[in-house]
Amino acid sequence: MAQLDGLPALRDVIETHDLRAKKSLGQNFLLDLNLTAKIARQAGDLTGSDILEVGPGPGGLTRGLLAEGARRVLAIEKDSRCLPALAEISAAYPGQLEVINADALQIDALAHLTPPIRVVANLPYNVGTELLVRWLTPPEWPPYWTSLTLMFQKEVAQRIIAQPGSKTYGRLAILSQWRCDANIVMSLPPEAFTPPPKIHSAVVHLTALPEARFPAKAETLSRVVAAGFNQRRKMLRSSLKGVAPDIEDRLLSAGLKPTDRAEQIPLEGFCALARAIDAP
Ligand code: SAM
Repeated sequence: MAQLDGLPALRDVIETHDLRAKKSLGQNFLLDLNLTAKIARQAGDLTGSDILEVGPGPGGLTRGLLAEGARRVLAIEKDSRCLPALAEISAAYPGQLEVINADALQIDALAHLTPPIRVVANLPYNVGTELLVRWLTPPEWPPYWTSLTLMFQKEVAQRIIAQPGSKTYGRLAILSQWRCDANIVMSLPPEAFTPPPKIHSAVVHLTALPEARFPAKAETLSRVVAAGFNQRRKMLRSSLKGVAPDIEDRLLSAGLKPTDRAEQIPLEGFCALARAIDAP
């Protein structure tokens, strides 16, 4: 059956192009175009933006983005079996969809995009966190993107928005919340996907702030947070021993107790500690 965009239904696309899902590529497809349009809408006004989409697969979310008025979509897909299906979408939206057959971890997407840029993706599970960390740690801030709207396993989504004191609070929460507003905007049950994964999923929307919430050097903050959460049960004076020889003094001058544990320290405290470590 033809859809509103004149293209075939996604189930037919999958059958025609024999796109049996490969687990090794994290392939769990969204076949409901109402749902993909709803996800696209979570990204905000797309009309004036270039969109970077990682892993378009058979193109459900890609079609959602284009139907919702994206100025241009750059889609990076590793699986060459998806290219003919994506070429049909390009033909239906002339000049608006560019597909690159590549590994998203290997490609410099920025070279193909014009600001303002939004990133929207139903990410493959195996590379989702790695891509998020790269987007959150660019060489300069503000980054090239204005927002990230990303589907993750629910457990990863919870780590992104976690608050101090919770079991999921850690490096991902600090990295995400230091320079972004981060919210879970949708939750999806396994049945929303074909094939259904074992776990629930959630869409996280991150908006880049013009500058960090609290001053700190990105490299120092990252080192402190990595060391602190690497041994999250230990007191800071021992988990951060390798970060600075006089760590107890630095903790005290940042207003932290050397006996505190990383999971109790709010973002502001980690930033104060990074500044104290960089102080002469
Ligand atoms: N966007 C489609 C949807 O929502 O139905 C497919 C999402 S599926 C969870 C993830 C997609 O990412 C698959 O199409 C897979 O082939 C692709 N993929 C996996 N690893 C990739 C990588 N390293 N670079 C680019 N695409 C990748």
